[in-house]
Amino acid sequence: MAMEGDLEDATVMTTLEGAAEGPLPFLDLTVQYSALQEEIDPAIRDVMRSGSFVMGRVGCKFEKEFAAYCEVDHAVGVGNGTDALTLALRALGVGAGNEVICPVNSFIATAEAISLTGATPVFADVEPETATIDVESVRDRLTARTRALVLVHLWGQPADLRPLLSLAAERGIDVVEDACQAHGARYQGRRIGSFGRLGCFSFYPTKNLGAYGDGGMVVTDDSVLAEKVRQLANHGQLRGAKYEHTVVGMNSRLDEIQAAILRVKLPHLEEWNRRRRWLASRYTERLRGISGLTTPTEAPERSSVWHLYVVRTERRDVLREGLAARKIATGIHYPVPLHLVGAYSHLGYSKGDFPVAEALARQILSLPLYPEMPEVTVDRIAGAVRDVLAE
Ligand SMILES: *Cc1c(COP(=O)(O)O)cnc(C)c1O
Repeated sequence: MAMEGDLEDATVMTTLEGAAEGPLPFLDLTVQYSALQEEIDPAIRDVMRSGSFVMGRVGCKFEKEFAAYCEVDHAVGVGNGTDALTLALRALGVGAGNEVICPVNSFIATAEAISLTGATPVFADVEPETATIDVESVRDRLTARTRALVLVHLWGQPADLRPLLSLAAERGIDVVEDACQAHGARYQGRRIGSFGRLGCFSFYPTKNLGAYGDGGMVVTDDSVLAEKVRQLANHGQLRGAKYEHTVVGMNSRLDEIQAAILRVKLPHLEEWNRRRRWLASRYTERLRGISGLTTPTEAPERSSVWHLYVVRTERRDVLREGLAARKIATGIHYPVPLHLVGAYSHLGYSKGDFPVAEALARQILSLPLYPEMPEVTVDRIAGAVRDVLAE
């Protein structure tokens, strides 16, 4: 369903008025493509004409551009965000016998990556205000086997890096940033991604910077770790040493077509993130004073890129159904905390182990938010939220 972002245009206004009661998707990726089609189509064609599809010039350029954007020295393109995390952990030597702490409220990929290295994920609870990993809960989960901490910049907002990094330094454990939802976010003014030893990004189509397929990136200021990630991602081969496989690696690379698409999109990311912030502030303004509803908070010094706009209410299911009846799609990120997910039942956790994350899972609801979404849509959704909760 196509929607325009330019409200100054009278014809667009008419279209929007016509669509005022139409179904509202959670997000619409077609609008951005329409806006960039004239740049993206030739970029894809150029790759096809070049005959070079994997580990070529375009990917190399994009790595440099993305590293500059993240204000880091090195970036390595990989197949997806899950692989980025797996490769980052493997580059640090994480494997069987190790424990790696991660937040219990995240996409399952965070924990999967830990499991894929052979290590055991150990869950920690999250802060009630931001839903990012709680430093005191991390402290409680540390053991002699703890080897690393994967923190997640959830919904676009950085985790509280300073106390987490000092705890990790004190205990001699490595920190990896899961930045898959936070391209461009800042902590105390500095871009996330290089606070930990490595930072991991996903370019899954729905992320703030999305490819037209899968893609991912590992960033770091450490040249040795960058080369290790590159080697592991390319069958354990060192650069320029074909068929010399000195470690057991995997195949996880960012292809040239995705890199070409991402190169077109990257220069727009700042503007898209600003627009997300603007729409988020409009939501918060329009949702003010609704009893029983909590709007999202941005903690001091943690600048969110608003990957998601997440409200909370004890009447979440009522709200979700009421919005669905008004043709408004919503999401829950995430409905089941990782310790209660079937795949991790063998770890022996039970209900009640993580009270904050469990309460959040019952209360949170993500409202539609994407840069091309018109302001009037925010107003319609906020009005609908008010109506449903007043019933
Ligand atoms: C999307 C996401 C991932 C995984 O990224 P993929 O590219 O889908 O593998 C990991 N962690 C978080 C927090 C994510 O949102």
